[in-house]
Amino acid sequence: MSAMTKHQLLDRLAAIVDARGLLTGPDAMAGYLEELRGRFSSEALAVVRPSNTQEVAAVVVACGEAGVGMVPQGGNTGAVGGAVSRADQVIVSLERMNRVREVDVDNDAITVEAGCILADVKQAAEEAGRFFPLSLASEGSARIGGNLATNAGGVNVLRYGNTRALTLGLEVVFADGRVWDGLSSLTKDNTGYDLKQWFIGSEGTLGIITAATFKLFPPLVQRAAAFVALDDPADALGLFRRLKHASGDNLIGCELMSGLAVSLACRHIPGCRNPVDEGAPWYLLVDLASPAKGDWLQAVLEQGLEEHYKSRAIRDAAIAANLEQIAAFWRIRESIPEAQKREGASIKHDISVPVASIPAFVAAATDAIEAAMPQARVSPFGHLGDGNLHFNLCEPAGGAGREAFIAQWDEAHRIIYDVVARFGGSFAAEHGIGRRKRNELMRYKPAVAVDAMRAIKAALDPHQLMNPGAILTDAERIA
Ligand code: FAD
Ligand code: ZN
Repeated sequence: MSAMTKHQLLDRLAAIVDARGLLTGPDAMAGYLEELRGRFSSEALAVVRPSNTQEVAAVVVACGEAGVGMVPQGGNTGAVGGAVSRADQVIVSLERMNRVREVDVDNDAITVEAGCILADVKQAAEEAGRFFPLSLASEGSARIGGNLATNAGGVNVLRYGNTRALTLGLEVVFADGRVWDGLSSLTKDNTGYDLKQWFIGSEGTLGIITAATFKLFPPLVQRAAAFVALDDPADALGLFRRLKHASGDNLIGCELMSGLAVSLACRHIPGCRNPVDEGAPWYLLVDLASPAKGDWLQAVLEQGLEEHYKSRAIRDAAIAANLEQIAAFWRIRESIPEAQKREGASIKHDISVPVASIPAFVAAATDAIEAAMPQARVSPFGHLGDGNLHFNLCEPAGGAGREAFIAQWDEAHRIIYDVVARFGGSFAAEHGIGRRKRNELMRYKPAVAVDAMRAIKAALDPHQLMNPGAILTDAERIA
């Protein structure tokens, strides 16, 4: 710390925010220091909780003058060590900035503060007769600033895109304390560099996002879904393509699940029941929805399934008769992470490849793992339509090989990510880099791209005070 002492900084922060705004001491800060998977834990000088943009700016100026690093934090659900701080750094929690500033139905836009919980934003849109499509299992605790800073995806990306695609404008406090008001409902604005894109996905390393304007959509009024049993991912891909096109791009969810993943959900999670052939090696959940009235999606779905059944491209299918059944299908899919946890240790990979490569990727990655780790059980599932799979490995049955399995963590990552790279894919399709995947970034991201990222970082955060250590390291390339 420079001329300003720790106590002087804390006094200054206390004067900026009100009495509830500054937390020090391990008990008061506990909830901000533990990341949910327990793999990363923080220490911190303080947790500061500003309640408006001007307070955020004043906090950034004070920390800047003290030379103290700042770690922005939303709901702390990121799970890659993104919002982790050191003992000499300050956590800036946006949680008190949770106002919906404006629901602009005339422009189909909503402006919200960065600390809003995602589910509350969806609710506010719904109350205004609009739909905000970003949907994640963590939406009850993840906050808008975290969604933006990690460019969150989730289950409706297929039809509506990820957070980036939904964002019209941002308000950001830069590292020098200046506020950039880039809030706007314009869909067209070609005035040079599109600055908001630099902050979306920046994981707090370039500035602190304080508010955003998002697109809103008409509510979905018709729905049709099926849970399908299949022999292999190629058949799933065929059905995906058919339904996407036949429905006029109204497929909003298309989730592939391995037989093992579904059987674990049905075994461990109360209320999950497989609605079709229990012995199938693969399952697909297809969910169609449209803002246009009618019931033609049901006919599109039935016809698509029938044609695939006739050509033996599916084994069995259950079509939902009502919204409760659709929810029951989704419950199976959404229970898989928890079910894998109850089954034992998992080694997780959140990867993407071009959609058409999914079958070949699954085959190649499975072969590579089976050759190196014959005991591990491969249990992929995820967003087939986005080419994004959670290519998870479950520990050997019975728990006997648990230690040996976990010891192969790094080796498994390397094997899977090398196959991903061969297919032109990404080793971080969701969640981001944080502090967990920095080595992979240095290994798989082209050097020219890493250089450009460093140049952007140096330009916007020359003193390296915004979330120091996230995404980029000083390390040279990792071969
Ligand atoms: P945090 O964890 O608090 O922060 C994440 C990163 O953003 C950190 O680097 C932090 O410094 C930075 N940050 C936070 N707020 C700001 C701000 N205001 N300005 C600048 N930087 C900021 N992710 C997906 O993409 N798709 C999924 O389907 C998905 N499903 C999930 C399911 C579960 C059960 C869980 C636990 C997580 C899931 N995630 C998913 C990951 C996570 O929920 C999302 O990435 C979410 O967007 C993070 O929001 P958060 O508020 O918790 O961010
Ligand atoms: Zn996912």
